[in-house]
Amino acid sequence: MSDGKKVLVGGNWKCNGTRDKVASLIAMLNDAGEFPANAEVVIAPTALHVGKVLDEVRKDVNVSVQNLWSEPKAGAWTGELTVDLVKDFGINWCILGHSERRAYCNETPEVVGNKVKIALEAGMSVIACIGEQLSDREANKTMEVCKAQLDPILKAIPEGAIGRVVVAYEPVWAIGTGVTATPDQAQDTHKELRAYLSEVVGPKDAEAVRIIYGGSVKGANCEDLIKKADIDGFLVGGASLKDEFKQIIASSA
Ligand code: PGA
Repeated sequence: MSDGKKVLVGGNWKCNGTRDKVASLIAMLNDAGEFPANAEVVIAPTALHVGKVLDEVRKDVNVSVQNLWSEPKAGAWTGELTVDLVKDFGINWCILGHSERRAYCNETPEVVGNKVKIALEAGMSVIACIGEQLSDREANKTMEVCKAQLDPILKAIPEGAIGRVVVAYEPVWAIGTGVTATPDQAQDTHKELRAYLSEVVGPKDAEAVRIIYGGSVKGANCEDLIKKADIDGFLVGGASLKDEFKQIIASSA
C-alpha cells in the first residue's frame, strides 16, 4: 500500500446470507469499534438483503450492489437492477465484472465496459474485477488476459471519473479455493497492471487508482498482502461472512 490512499476493504457476500446471518453480520460490523482512519469499507449483500443492511449498518460502511443491468433506466427488465433504482436507495457503489458473472452469465469484456460506463456516468463508484484462469497463468498469459478485460473498462471511464474506479485483481484460480496468490505473485501482477494503467491513463491517475486483490483473502494472509507496494486493499468473499472480516479491516491500519 502506498501513502495517501485509503485502503479499500470490500466484502462480497455473493449469493449468501439467511436473514439471521445477515443480522449477525450487521451486528458484527456495528460492534467492531472504530475502523482505522485509512480504511474504506464497502460491503455487497444480495439484492434481497441490501435494504436491511442500508437501514441497519453503521454509516461508515458503504453498501454496494453486486451487479447492474446494462441499461440505466428502470423499466421492463424482469429480474434486474438498474442504476436509477440503485441510486434511489442512496447506494453509490457497485461491483462489476466479477469472474462469476463473466463465467456464468456470459458477461463479455464489452458488456462489463458498458456497465462501468453506466455506473460512472450516474456518479457511482465501481469495483471493476479482472483476473486470469489458472491455464492462462500457466501459459504466461496473465497480463494478456487482464489487459483484454481492462481495456473496455478503461475506455468506458468518462472524463474526470477515474477517481471513482477501483480495479480488483482476482485470479480466478484463487477465488473460493483457499489457494491465495502469494504476496509476491499478487504484487508482481499489481505492479504490471499499474504500469499498464500508466501507459493508458498516465502516471498520475495510474498511481491514484486503487488496485485491490481478491482471492481467498483471510485474516491469516491479509497483513502480508497489504504490505506490498501496489496492493491497495482487498475484495473478500468467504471471509467477509466471518468474524475475521474485522481483522482484515484492521490490517489497513
Ligand atoms: P473469496 O472470493 O475471498 O471467497 O476467494 C473473492 C471474490 O470472489 O471476490
